[in-house]
Amino acid sequence: MSQQQQLLNPSSAHDYLKEVGADGVSIDELIDLRNTGSLTYDDFLLLPGYIDFAADEVSLQTKLTRNITLNAPFVSSPMDTVTEADMAIAMALQGGIGIIHNNCTAEDQAAMVRKVKTFENGFIQEPKVLSPTHTVRDVFEIKEKFGFGGVPITDSGKLGGKLVGIVTMRDVQFLKDIDVPLKDVMTTDIVTAPSGITLKEANDILSHSKKGKLPIVDQDGNLVSLLSRSDLLKNRDYPLASKHPETKQLLVGAAIGTREYDKERLAKLLEAGLDVVVLDSSQGNSKYQISMIKWIRETYGNRIDIIAGNVVTRDQAANLIAAGADALRVGMASSGICSTSIVLAVGRAQATSVRQVSQFARRFGVPVIADGGVSTVGHISKALALGASTVMMGSLLAGTTEAPGEYFFVDGKRLKKYRGMGSIEAMKKNDSKNSGSQARYFSESSTVKVAQGVSGAVVDKGPVTKFVPYLYAGLQHSLQDMGIRSLADLWPNVIAGKVRFERRSAAAQREGGIYGLYQYENRLYDSA
Ligand code: NAD
Ligand code: IMP
Repeated sequence: MSQQQQLLNPSSAHDYLKEVGADGVSIDELIDLRNTGSLTYDDFLLLPGYIDFAADEVSLQTKLTRNITLNAPFVSSPMDTVTEADMAIAMALQGGIGIIHNNCTAEDQAAMVRKVKTFENGFIQEPKVLSPTHTVRDVFEIKEKFGFGGVPITDSGKLGGKLVGIVTMRDVQFLKDIDVPLKDVMTTDIVTAPSGITLKEANDILSHSKKGKLPIVDQDGNLVSLLSRSDLLKNRDYPLASKHPETKQLLVGAAIGTREYDKERLAKLLEAGLDVVVLDSSQGNSKYQISMIKWIRETYGNRIDIIAGNVVTRDQAANLIAAGADALRVGMASSGICSTSIVLAVGRAQATSVRQVSQFARRFGVPVIADGGVSTVGHISKALALGASTVMMGSLLAGTTEAPGEYFFVDGKRLKKYRGMGSIEAMKKNDSKNSGSQARYFSESSTVKVAQGVSGAVVDKGPVTKFVPYLYAGLQHSLQDMGIRSLADLWPNVIAGKVRFERRSAAAQREGGIYGLYQYENRLYDSA
């Protein structure tokens, strides 16, 4: 016969909670290698905590490496369909950082680093430029393709050439003969400003002149950049921007490999102003990476922070930490474009990898970058709750305006290419033996390329300048729901067992998805 339980006094609810214990499980109980095998982000949820602060008060400041602090935990992946200069600039402006890929010559990679380091908010660094012998037709083509009709004219038709005129839509829109050379229609009475001018000063000149564009020229009259009246209103401050504390230039990272010629590549990148280097490999626990870390330290001391990896076990981590890594990149076989675990049968599910390596590396003050497998804001919060300090994203940022490549249409959908750096397509991009993926896979003794990735496309996601603020705000709400005020508070509360986790069954995962609708729209965000 069951015994009726006596009702307790509501004022004793907290005492009773102490007696029965907190709900959910601790991180140690969640990642229980013997009983549950390895887990990934979708296998669990975080339980809600107590909210006594607003979501926008949550600080997302975090460590990228031992010596570099970011205001947002977002890193773009060194992939040739994700991070070149435009992505790196956009990521740094939003408080994160971009790591420029190395599937190109060292000179091209260094030029991208230089572009980020010399970026000044508001100035168009690479305006479309024409020469006096180009025709009005070329101006219309630029207008159609890029949407703007104000084009500076230089003697060489290139940025860096002597500024000789400017053509605007006003000069050409009523012309019948569009094969007229621009020298016959361009305006030569141009208001310019000298390079080195601040954005505010340049804005003032533009506001007082009646012109739509302000070309910025060096002391010899060569075109350096452009300021546009239509961009004036769009220019805004980026209070979270990742900047070097002394130079105030945006921070940027770049990837290199571990071959002899990568030492020369690094020298060029450093000369261009590189802040942090990533030793890019799927399996970083190698004699090659250890000796590269040691060589960089011996050659450059502490001038540059080194991100080593990738690793997924603490055994791997131990070698790289002992060698002197300033951060570890964690993830093997977790990306959607990755075929490593299928082909090579080596890898680990990402939630387990992140927790195992972070728990170990945090004891040495070495931050972890959770790399790959992030396709929602929720995955980012989970990675950080498992101990990572930042997350690295490829697919989530591919398809944005700032990602390299042109958009194309398939079945009415606007797409951009996204491919693995170990895909055959990426490996074949360069013929030169030391210019990228090709060199890695075509060593002297091997003539067969074994693909570890695929090549595909993702849908247009609009500009990173809107998408990353969505990730930022989403993450703030996630931490607020956990009852955590800052990323700095997250890990201490996780290890103290205050942040609670719970595994979820396949049915629970289905329940957590969207269902029961005939059709629906899944807009991720709305921004002003
Ligand atoms: P890698 O350069 O580390 O390795 C390629 C081959 O070169 C390996 O066989 C390696 O042992 C060898 N090698 C490296 N340095 C050497 C040296 N100094 N001397 C002799 N041999 C050397 O590149 P990878 O691991 O194949 O990765 C290629 C790209 O694909 C990277 O961008 C990586 O991030 C990406 N990738 C990532 C994953 C992942 O799961 N995170 C998986 C596959 C590929
Ligand atoms: P995503 O964010 O899930 O798309 O994963 C991005 C990560 O995938 C990168 O940062 C790399 O670590 C990894 N990666 C890049 N290229 C390849 C590849 O060809 N095969 C497997 N993994 C790759």
